[in-house]
Amino acid sequence: MARVGRKNHELLPSFQRVTVDGNSWSSYLLSKGKVSMQKTLISVLFLMFSCLIGCSTPQEDKDDPALKAEKGREDSGEQPPETAIDGNRRHLESEAVLRQRVRAKSCEKFAKELTKLPHVAGSKRNAELATYLVNTLTQFGFQVERHVYEVLLPYPVHVEVEMVAPVAFSASLREEPTELDLDTSNKAVLPFNAYSPDCDLTAPVIYVNYGRREDFERLAALGIDCRGKIALTRYGRIFRGSKAKIAAEFGAAAMILFSDPADDGFVKGDVYPHGPFRPSTAVERGSILDISTYPGDPGTPGIPSLPGEDQLTFDQMKSLPNLPTTCISQADAKPLLENMKGSTVPDGWQGGIPITYHLGDASTVRLRLHLEMDYSLRLIENITATLNGLRCPDEVILIGNHRDAWVHGASDPGSGTSVLLEAARVLADAKEAGQGLDRTVRFAFWDAEEFGIIGSTEYGEQFAKELSKECVAYINIDSAVSGPNLRLAGVPTLARFAQDVLSSIANEGKPGSLVDPLLNEKGQMRYGTLGSGSDYTVFLERLGIDCIDIGSGGAHGVYHSSYDTYVFMKRFADPGFKQHKVMAGVLATMVSRLANSEILPFDFKRLGADLLQTQKRMEARYKNLDLSEIGELANHVTDVGTKINQAMVKLGSMNLNLETRLLLNRRIYQASRKLLLKNGLEERPWYKHALWAPHPDKGYGTEDLPTITDALLANDKNRAQDGATELVNVLRAYLNEIDGLRQHLERLTEQ
Ligand SMILES: [Zn+2]
Repeated sequence: MARVGRKNHELLPSFQRVTVDGNSWSSYLLSKGKVSMQKTLISVLFLMFSCLIGCSTPQEDKDDPALKAEKGREDSGEQPPETAIDGNRRHLESEAVLRQRVRAKSCEKFAKELTKLPHVAGSKRNAELATYLVNTLTQFGFQVERHVYEVLLPYPVHVEVEMVAPVAFSASLREEPTELDLDTSNKAVLPFNAYSPDCDLTAPVIYVNYGRREDFERLAALGIDCRGKIALTRYGRIFRGSKAKIAAEFGAAAMILFSDPADDGFVKGDVYPHGPFRPSTAVERGSILDISTYPGDPGTPGIPSLPGEDQLTFDQMKSLPNLPTTCISQADAKPLLENMKGSTVPDGWQGGIPITYHLGDASTVRLRLHLEMDYSLRLIENITATLNGLRCPDEVILIGNHRDAWVHGASDPGSGTSVLLEAARVLADAKEAGQGLDRTVRFAFWDAEEFGIIGSTEYGEQFAKELSKECVAYINIDSAVSGPNLRLAGVPTLARFAQDVLSSIANEGKPGSLVDPLLNEKGQMRYGTLGSGSDYTVFLERLGIDCIDIGSGGAHGVYHSSYDTYVFMKRFADPGFKQHKVMAGVLATMVSRLANSEILPFDFKRLGADLLQTQKRMEARYKNLDLSEIGELANHVTDVGTKINQAMVKLGSMNLNLETRLLLNRRIYQASRKLLLKNGLEERPWYKHALWAPHPDKGYGTEDLPTITDALLANDKNRAQDGATELVNVLRAYLNEIDGLRQHLERLTEQ
């Protein structure tokens, strides 16, 4: 008999505040079979101690090249940006000094400590790393705070994938260690997909390619009924949580995800430890929480999960997936695929395992899937470190990365944490040397990002009011380095700023600047849009804070496996930690320039131009929809933005007093708050931004104009037109706001 569900015992008070010590992890490391996990009640004393001393990103398949292409959609046909318009050129010299202080060795030292042991969210090691960060940042001279939340984090207790017919086979779920990298023999978290329900079921298997909506539609067209079947799905192209959601819609009984060598294994190149690609036994762990409904703790949407906060019941948690799902390696997928019958797969569906893939039928391969999770509330801890601004202390530049990793996390997220620490170190040193920044800078080290962007979301929910008022911008790093190729995404208003920063930094050892490799033949910088999948989500999509996401990548296959280690980083991703140095230099420069700009370098013209492109694209696609008013408003935004830019150029050479600048800058960075929908999106009110949301079928990818697109995805034309009206109202308010800013600026230029 099939059994699917979750045991509710975790929500009883006696199971609250659970953490895991190193030994209990080891007990289910590299093991399958039933292991009971030690639960350690964290004493009230620990809690008090923690709070007193101040307590404790696809990538998103983020490294999936195809997914990145989706995210990193090239922007509009806009001209290359004008040159910098404010007085920040005077800071170029001090920025160069900052970069000279950045050390590759220092980044490596941080990386070594951060990646020494596996440190999944809620574990003892991750708490130790919080303390390491607190000590390190305090030594640098920062004011350090700990932010503790109590959130629902499922850990795997029992994971079993067993072929019962036509031959008996049991998936090993074991990632083979290698003597060339001793870290690979450390105890890793048993491969699992976080937030899968428990189950014990036996069903036939079918192959569903990448598990996208179009893949399931193709199967339906071929007459294949997915109902009651286990969907064998390869990773890639969309967020794994979206695959589980779509498969459930098509009636699947369960899903097994595997890493196909055509996507990141031997088909791409030599596998680890001889090359950077995925070895045959490597498994990609990962959450399947439905972050496009809402991210963060599933039990407390919209409010911070402070310890003791009431949680929703499982039935009420709309982000919890319903489909039992787990992940296996290529080596464990092979025997299943070998035994599957039915028709051969359609064009483009054949993967890289050297056998012919079949779709499967109802009678040959039957699998038993047995999953048991420990759904407990556990403590997580964000660390923030603040360097107060000398002249505008109430304006805050926020920059952050997550600390928790599925295993060692050298690339994801260790590289991000290392470069963030190094940037923090040089900025603190500069302040010590008398070169403090005008604005306040806050470095954030989020927890439980891997489970569902939890730490940053809870923080954003807790400090919504303060952030809305003070936060100038948020810069996100996740996997800062997994290769040498810089990638950049963000809101349109910060595109010119980002391009300006990169073009002011020489590309060491090569001609030109860091921006050059990002330019297309027309001289436009590749600059992706933001959907979700990392810690910028709450700041952009709920609080309307302008964000940039930056990192540098390369082709590899260690994502979310035991092989993303220090040795992997040193041998393949970043020999000599040179790219870490580049990234720390870029971050220090970005932060410094934003913190010292006399007039904040936001570009409203670009937002208008990008919006017009989006409107044209949607109108061409959905012929019956009247979006003309949105087009007109986009043109107005462009016009007003152009005038604002002109006025900013004039003002750049004028001496404004501090009070005037404060007033002006507040209007500049708070303008984006006007892009928020008062009540959020109809079907997912946690999301409030009128221009962008994560795509419900892709998870990480961006959905443009979601008041309209959500309705179109639900095939509701009338609601789509209402959504257009709602957007028009938001855009009018926004236009009104920036036009007021234009008048303000022009008045100042006339003085
Ligand atoms: Zn990450």
